[in-house]
Amino acid sequence: MTPLVVGFDLDMTLIDSRPGVIASFDALNRALGTTIDGEAIAAHLGPTLESEMAAYFPADEIDAVCDRYREIYAELGPSGSSLLPGAAAAVASVREHSGMTLVITAKFEPNAHLCLAHVGIEVDHVIGWRHGPQKGETLLEHAAHVYVGDTLPDIEAAHLAGAHAIGVATGPVSADDLRTAGANTVMDTLDEFPAWLSTFTAS
Ligand SMILES: [Mg+2]
Repeated sequence: MTPLVVGFDLDMTLIDSRPGVIASFDALNRALGTTIDGEAIAAHLGPTLESEMAAYFPADEIDAVCDRYREIYAELGPSGSSLLPGAAAAVASVREHSGMTLVITAKFEPNAHLCLAHVGIEVDHVIGWRHGPQKGETLLEHAAHVYVGDTLPDIEAAHLAGAHAIGVATGPVSADDLRTAGANTVMDTLDEFPAWLSTFTAS
């Protein structure tokens, strides 16, 4: 297997971004006089920002309000992000196997870079603005062997690319639901990842 290529989702897979998301929606609400429920959005991170905003704004305002949110998030999001258990060691373990690391995320790419820098994770490539099947296309382009994510579209994306789908239950989806959705491997946290990778690369 040369070279090993492993992709990771970002939100709720490598980082707990909920506090930064809530703070950003609070700031947006103050700026616009709106009542967007940031806590509810943060509780099920995964859908695109555009689809979340569609519940609150007419279609012709969504692009502008999403741009405004992303500006605010660039200020408040990174400092409201923290490493999930085992995330740094998981990324490091791929390097120890001479592998290439990708982060493939629906998040606006510059903001993904800011969040990763804040938590001190370096990967080989960050590919943002990818959601659902687009993640699968990006995994295919990079010939990824493994994709690690916390939501059902992440599992589907891995399968689309013929990659080993790892579901990690640190997000809104339970381990049982990740398993039912077809994850090849399910982990409670990424603390389990390095040992799994050693077995995977030996097989
Ligand atoms: Mg996620």
